Amino acid sequence: MKSSMLSGKTALVTGSTSGIGLGIARSLAEQGANIIFNGFGDAQMIDKLYNDIGVEFGVGTAYHNADMSKPADIEAMMGFAFEKFGGVDVLVNNAGIQHVANIEDFPADKWDAIIAINLTSAFHTSRLALPGMKRNNWGRIINLASVHGLVGSAQKSAYVAAKHGLVGFTKVTALETAHTGVTCNAICPGWVLTPLVQKQVDDRAAREGISNEAAKKALLAEKQPSGEFVTPEELGALAVFFCSPAGDQVRGVAWNMDGGWAAQ
Ligand code: NAD
Repeated sequence: MKSSMLSGKTALVTGSTSGIGLGIARSLAEQGANIIFNGFGDAQMIDKLYNDIGVEFGVGTAYHNADMSKPADIEAMMGFAFEKFGGVDVLVNNAGIQHVANIEDFPADKWDAIIAINLTSAFHTSRLALPGMKRNNWGRIINLASVHGLVGSAQKSAYVAAKHGLVGFTKVTALETAHTGVTCNAICPGWVLTPLVQKQVDDRAAREGISNEAAKKALLAEKQPSGEFVTPEELGALAVFFCSPAGDQVRGVAWNMDGGWAAQ
């Protein structure tokens, strides 16, 4: 059901051409927000995606192809947001990648890319969005961390380090905005069946000679007590809550939505 809670506001969702970012962008559009999409993918697919969502929810949409590992691209994207919609009211730092390998085998360039995209990009977007949010005395920053921002996992050193860093950065952002109408919180999902996780499912199925379905069940059985994947729609609903008046005093939390993973 459409709502106008965020009408007149603009949300920038990084990494929103797929998976969780796309789910959150849809949920914010449903609340009436204009959306700036970002991320990689086939140009035709992206054009259709953001035009269709604009029509479906009757909101303004646009796309910027900033590479979130590049500060100059991020600066250009924030300039674009100001030109197109007059600023960013809701910033969702969602773009992320990962790589799985033991520390001694971990390629240094992959380490750098994971830290740049999953952590440092949030510093750059936030530092550029905060002055406008503070001026308006309203803003929402939502950082897509992970259950890996709360607990460790072997073979994911860079990812776990970046996500723990993002949870820390969330707390500092919340403290620096505590006396304003700007809030900052992190979302910490467990397994969500997006292309990022599908690759792990495929790798596991190939490695163990099992079916795709069996690999999914095995992933869930190991870590996620609910036995079910979290969905982008559920994460979108949490982002909407952070944006709602009921979320005004929710500040600096790392909110897991992980089927019980971190409770173990
Ligand atoms: P995904 O692979 O489906 O989507 C990632 C998005 O980021 C895509 O739009 C991609 O184009 C974009 N992206 C990647 N590198 C980029 C770059 N350099 N510049 C701009 N955009 C870039 O992944 P997802 O599962 O939807 O993950 C989204 C976020 O949620 C990530 O930060 C991820 O770490 C986090 N997360 C995912 C899960 C999960 O189970 N899927 C769990 C916890 C946290």
